[in-house]
Amino acid sequence: MTEARLPSPHTSLREFPYVVVRFRCHVCERGGDARLAVLAAKYGSDALVGRLLRVFVAGCPWDPQNPARKPQKYGMRCGGYCPDVLAPRPPDLPPSMTGFSLIQGGKADMLPAEPAPIERRRRVGDVDV
Ligand SMILES: [Zn+2]
Repeated sequence: MTEARLPSPHTSLREFPYVVVRFRCHVCERGGDARLAVLAAKYGSDALVGRLLRVFVAGCPWDPQNPARKPQKYGMRCGGYCPDVLAPRPPDLPPSMTGFSLIQGGKADMLPAEPAPIERRRRVGDVDV
């Protein structure tokens, strides 16, 4: 898939390339998968993915545009997003077809398999036996 065809918030449901539209939230851990046909029947095939994301965020208790909530500069905000929007990899690509990817860290960052031996401290006045 080329960069120009990646789904964006301005992509309509008619142009959305996948069968399922996934919604997730970082904050409230809500989420769900909606079938494209169901969304198109409910909101119309010209509805934008960004608008549907707004509908998803509106159901969140941390919705920043909820008029019942007082605006807070550093308060919690809904972290709703669509994992497949602007993602370079299709959601249904099997892991075996993705090949290897380089991740940060390495063997030096791994935790030891055995816990470190406990170092006992001596008490003041303790005598060797
Ligand atoms: Zn949320």
